[in-house]
Amino acid sequence: MQYISTRGSAPRLGFEDVTLAGLASDGGLYVPESWPSFSTAEIAAMRGLSYVDTAVAVMKPFVAGALDEAELKKLCEAAYGRFSHAAVVPLKQLDHRQWLMELFHGPTLAFKDVALQLLGLLFERFLARRDTHLTVIGATSGDTGSAAIDALAGRAKVDIFMLHPKGRVSEVQRRQMTTVLAPNVHNIAIEGSFDDAQALVKAMFADADFASRFNLSAVNSINWARLMAQVVYYFYAGAQLGAPDRPVAFSVPTGNFGDVFAGYVAAKMGLPIAKLIVATNVNDILHRALSAGDYSVGTVTPTAAPSMDIQVSSNFERLLFDLHGRDGPALSASMKGFEASRRLDIPQAMRAEAAALFSSTRVDADRMQLAMRWAHDKAHEVIDPHSAIGLAAAQDSDLDPSVPIVTLATAHPAKFGDAVERATGIRPTLPARIGGLFERQERYAVLPAEIGAIEGFVADTAAAAV
Ligand SMILES: *Cc1c(COP(=O)(O)O)cnc(C)c1O
Repeated sequence: MQYISTRGSAPRLGFEDVTLAGLASDGGLYVPESWPSFSTAEIAAMRGLSYVDTAVAVMKPFVAGALDEAELKKLCEAAYGRFSHAAVVPLKQLDHRQWLMELFHGPTLAFKDVALQLLGLLFERFLARRDTHLTVIGATSGDTGSAAIDALAGRAKVDIFMLHPKGRVSEVQRRQMTTVLAPNVHNIAIEGSFDDAQALVKAMFADADFASRFNLSAVNSINWARLMAQVVYYFYAGAQLGAPDRPVAFSVPTGNFGDVFAGYVAAKMGLPIAKLIVATNVNDILHRALSAGDYSVGTVTPTAAPSMDIQVSSNFERLLFDLHGRDGPALSASMKGFEASRRLDIPQAMRAEAAALFSSTRVDADRMQLAMRWAHDKAHEVIDPHSAIGLAAAQDSDLDPSVPIVTLATAHPAKFGDAVERATGIRPTLPARIGGLFERQERYAVLPAEIGAIEGFVADTAAAAV
């Protein structure tokens, strides 16, 4: 399998190089040269498979040339063996048509673990064959950071620098990052927003000298391997609910358009998906883009679902690439215009093409709380604010009622205990395996949102390590 950049001028790479590179050298994102697809018989054969076996079946075409099936299976067993539920990502029924898929049973209690536990092992596996040291740089609105740090702490040949917006992640989220004291883990609190942090990461990658001197790599959802790992659970849920004979819809609480793009890939691969519901909070650039063609950057409003407090959705570029007929130079021109003017108008024809698969809903704080209370009162499930945004959008959807809707539950409610308690009166407890968080020592730097300050910190830290 070969991968190409959405901007058309970076070299084609195999899976191993794409995984280690993260971002493409032309500023674009890597996507498979063509979408692999499964026959209905192959999808039917996924019924009854374990999560690991589903993962191997779904990811095998994407890793071809880099890992054989036995190697892939070993990595999946190691990654998903760390999940605390035997189903890995259990499905729960809420009512006659609403379902939840709980993606938060990994080590850091958010769905990011599903992809990052595997990515950490892929890095280790690929770096073992090479004489290179990797510097992973990431920006986090909360959950990516802890999941990436858990996946990479103590691993050989990798350092990780994680930028989070100071004071804008929950205390649990911050402590899950800053109490990991492994010498290869470096947390930086940025005096700015998540978008500032993400822009700084992009700027470091765009600084060619810096990027090659430190051999930068990304673990944000711009890394293709992460999206690939997320495609798996769409098939896993679909097979359990009757695919390929019955279509299924998914409601996906969205920020960076990563998780929901994985659903798009599953649809491209042949899974009958009736609809992908893109659920945003009041930071609604994706809703405006899909419903009105208005992909313009507003200001970020902090909400109870901070992992979705995003205005620029990096992975949306991957969908735009397909909507531009996979014309890299054309998309590159559009994205350069967007980067300059902070707005992009999506033409009606592209919007109509997207609308065949996607719908979108903007969910405000009141509707989110109502969904949390409904889940608790009617289905006896305590859900977190992100999952509640997905559920609200699922409940408000005008889809054919014979289609089951699976809401992706993206975080454990205890990660957002205050918001859950405000809505339901219930204070969810942190699972014992991450207890003790509040007693542990923290370590992190606080830096201004300036490229010079961050690059200087990375360089000093690297120099101190020699
Ligand atoms: C990251 C995250 C999201 C958004 O996922 P994207 O792939 O960025 O769209 C939603 N909910 C939670 C809890 C998250 O951590």
